[in-house]
Amino acid sequence: MLPTELIDRAHTGRCTKEDATILAAAPLPELFRLADELRAEAVGDTATYIINRNINFTSMCIGTCRFCAFRDRDGYRMSIPEILEKAREAVRIGATEICIQGGLLPDMRLADYCEILESIKSEFPETHLHVYSPMEVWHAARDGVGVKNALAALKDSGLDTMPGTAAEILVDRVREMICPDKLNTEEWASVVRAAHCKGIRTTATIMYGHIETTEDRIDHLLLVREIQKETHGFTEFVPLPFMPRNSELGSEMLASGNYGVTGIDDLRMHALARIVLHTHIPNIQASWVKLGTKLAQYALHCGANDLGGTLMEEKISKSAGATSGEYMSPAEFDWIIRKAGRVPAVRDTLYNQTFHESSIKNYLPGGAATSSTVI
Ligand code: SF4
Repeated sequence: MLPTELIDRAHTGRCTKEDATILAAAPLPELFRLADELRAEAVGDTATYIINRNINFTSMCIGTCRFCAFRDRDGYRMSIPEILEKAREAVRIGATEICIQGGLLPDMRLADYCEILESIKSEFPETHLHVYSPMEVWHAARDGVGVKNALAALKDSGLDTMPGTAAEILVDRVREMICPDKLNTEEWASVVRAAHCKGIRTTATIMYGHIETTEDRIDHLLLVREIQKETHGFTEFVPLPFMPRNSELGSEMLASGNYGVTGIDDLRMHALARIVLHTHIPNIQASWVKLGTKLAQYALHCGANDLGGTLMEEKISKSAGATSGEYMSPAEFDWIIRKAGRVPAVRDTLYNQTFHESSIKNYLPGGAATSSTVI
């Protein structure tokens, strides 16, 4: 049985590190019950998703992250017209958000990052641009530009919100082992704080299931909670299981008989995130691309209230072994959510529910939307 005081603290958003340690080892039914109660308390029975498109504009990267299966020395780099064509496809199917991330190119400067945004915004001023990880902003801010200036320029060019990726595990001991050349914990936090300060909201993520300990996961959650208390800038928290195929780190794990995170651990991570972040971050996303649709659906009973986006294109998880596909139609989201006993709703990036579930019925098979469905 979980201690009553712990449950009380969880309900009031005051979970301590000791509480989180107990929860991380708690029997699954008790953990999931508490997470589900807090989910209901925070957001009710609606489960959301977003109609969006991912654009990974280049697979080339000067980074050295040992977990990365996406980086490709002889990879592709999209031109502005190619990016624009993908944006047009997204708008055609009713996407309200375009998410853009890519590798770090040595010749890509702040002006190049801005040019992508300006090109899309000049054609689609209403489309929300959820773009560039803190690492990409750090890269754009090099050579004396500075993070604040880079963020200001990106915002002026059309950046609306940022994905809180590149977080991996926000513990430097772990980062030194899995991504030594990436920005460190303090630097990641400084970019996110600066973004929130400029009114640019972000998501927050964790990439778990490699060499980190339970304590590292908890420290990560507590840091995210601390930042949120200061800035209120996070819209959601997204646990992302490490996928061990096709990377240096993954190969080492597989060779030693470690096949990566299991479904039970995935659900435990989502439940823990819900409980530790309760009253601070209302939305916990279960990524259908990473978890698969069936486990993501079950995560809706373990603290999650959102299933992410339709995506259309997803290269990063796919290159690391994800097999769930790159696109899921609104009709299928609707189906999965209903079958989980929840009420489906389409949301925008800021979690406003943009149109009622009944409008989803107007979507044609294969994802094309009738014009009347798009607000
Ligand atoms: S994770 Fe990102 S920054 Fe790191 S190597 Fe891969 S593409 Fe580059």
